[in-house]
Parts: sequence; structure tokens; C-alpha cells
Amino acid sequence: MTEELDSAIRRLLQNAHSVVIVSHIRPDADAVGSLLGLGLPLLAAGKQVQMVLQDGMPEKYSFLPGADRVTRSIESGYDTLITVDCSEPERTGQLLEGLGAPDLVIDHHQTNPNFGKLNIVVPEASATAFVLANQLPRWGLSVDADTAQCLLAGILGDTIGFRTSSTDAQTLRAAADLMEKGADLSLVYRQVLLSRSISELRYWGQGLIKTQYEDNILWTVLTLDDRIKAVYPENDDADLVNLLSSVSGPFVVVLFVQQAPDRVKVSWRSIEGIDVSSIASTFGGGGHAAAAGADVTGSLQEVIAKVLEKTKNVLVGR
Ligand code: 5GP
Ligand code: MN
Repeated sequence: MTEELDSAIRRLLQNAHSVVIVSHIRPDADAVGSLLGLGLPLLAAGKQVQMVLQDGMPEKYSFLPGADRVTRSIESGYDTLITVDCSEPERTGQLLEGLGAPDLVIDHHQTNPNFGKLNIVVPEASATAFVLANQLPRWGLSVDADTAQCLLAGILGDTIGFRTSSTDAQTLRAAADLMEKGADLSLVYRQVLLSRSISELRYWGQGLIKTQYEDNILWTVLTLDDRIKAVYPENDDADLVNLLSSVSGPFVVVLFVQQAPDRVKVSWRSIEGIDVSSIASTFGGGGHAAAAGADVTGSLQEVIAKVLEKTKNVLVGR
């Protein structure tokens, strides 16, 4: 990170009185952990802070300090707007519509076009929370035990418990440092990665029985009806895609999660050497080489057909 960017961000945060921080729809641990991991130190520094998720705080992460402060819409009167873990404005849902460029974008997606006035985008970083863990002290903000807990949750979530190829020695050092500051690894690990509800298990079951394997692609679907049957309260995939990607053999895993009769969330996962973010980009999405997603308009059948065709084309000759 350049000294210049760091001092510009430090100035921005020092001069801020009322800060809005937002993250992405269908929030995961890195979205939530980064939101709280920046919001809590700003509160401790005496700022007014709104921490906003359009979909609200998932029950799963309500154990994190500050979770009850998260709201679902932005109230006017703020002076500084920040996004965390968002590769593009649309990832926030409709929160940024009509607001202009954020003052600061903090992210780790290679597909991020740097849509902020200031941008700290680190594609090689294992998580946005890892970027924050490194940068907060340089920006004059201190990391207390609560903040450390949130940042460790973000890192554990995006590295799936330190097992993605993005997990490097620096990530492990940052995690160790957060533990020394008071983060409880075993608690965070259990809450973020191990603990499952019966609903999640039933929802997985709905997807698992429909799993198909063709042309080195393992794929399945979660419909709106599946969600109702499983009494699953969120609109995400309950991490089913990560379970599917633990299957050895497939080059690519694709999961279709119906969001509305005419809208489908698509998740891709790939083995080393296949960049699925480029496929996601052709559908208006993005992400990382090994893990990408897109919100695609169309009926479930239409979206499945289009996405599988594009994905197969990328795999031709492999
Ligand atoms: P997931 O499949 O777990 O939702 O997301 C995998 C990766 O793709 C994450 O890094 C996430 O930020 C990114 N991603 C997921 N959905 C979208 C989307 O609709 N648009 C963009 N640009 N990126 C997405
Ligand atoms: Mn992330």
C-alpha cells in the first residue's frame, strides 16, 4: 500500500464525523466481519457510525460484538460513505442508488473497477477483513478484542478455515495477532464454519438430491420452494456450494439459488487453473478466479441452460 493512499485514508477517517459503512447482499462472514471490524473502531474513536446491510444481519453472525447495531437502510446526514467487501456498487443491493461514488472502497476482488473516490483493493488478500487487520493501525484506529473477534470471523469465513489457496503466511500471522488481541478462534470457528441448523441441513438435502454431474461440471439447484420446505430463513445457499466443492473430480461446481421467479443467484467454484470470475463477469457478476458469483435475470430453466453452456465452453479442450 502506498504511503500516499494510507495518509489520504487516515485524513478521511480523522475528519469524518458521521460514517456510513455498507457491505453486500446475502452477507457472508467477511461482509459482516469487515463491516463490524471497521465500524467498532470508528465508534471507539468517537464517530457516529451507521453499519448497514440491505438484507440485515444473519442470525448466524449475531454472536459477533456490535451485530445488534446493524441496520437495513441508510439514514441521511452522514458525511462519509464506505463500502467493504463489495466488488461493485450493485453488490450492496439498492443501498447506493442515487448516492454517487463512495468516499472509500475497501475490498479484495480482482473484478473491482475501483468505484470509490479512494480505493484500497487488494486482490491477493485472502479476505477484506485481512486488509482491515493490516491497515486499521496505519489509519490511526486501534483493534480491541471485539474488533479482533469480528475480523477473525471475516478471515475464517473467506479462507474456509485457512484452507483456500489464498491463505498465506501473512494471513496466519494476522490471525495469530488477532488472537493475541483477544479473538476467540475456537468460538469463531464453531460459529462461522461448524454450527448448522436443522433448516440448513434440510435445505442442503433439497439441493443434494438434485445434484448432476456432466462434462466435468457438478451442479445443482435450490428453488424458492426448497427454501420454504426447509424453513430456511435466509436467501443464500447456506454454504452448500462449499460442500459441493469438496467433491473430488469436477473441474467446476455451479450452484443455482432461485431468488425470485425471474432471478437466480449463480455461484461458481473451480479447481486451480480455471478462472470462473471471467464467466461470472459475462453474466454481470464477478469475484475471484476460484470462487465467483452473479445475479442473473431469467427463469430458473433459462439461467441454468445459459450458464451451463457458457461454463462448458470455457472447459472445452481441458
Ligand atoms: P458466492 O458464490 O459465495 O456468493 O461468492 C463467491 C465470490 O463471488 C465472492 O467473492 C463474491 O463476492 C463474488 N460474488 C458473488 N455474487 C456476486 C455478484 O452477484 N456480483 C459480483 N460482482 N460478485 C459476486
Ligand atoms: Mn470477501
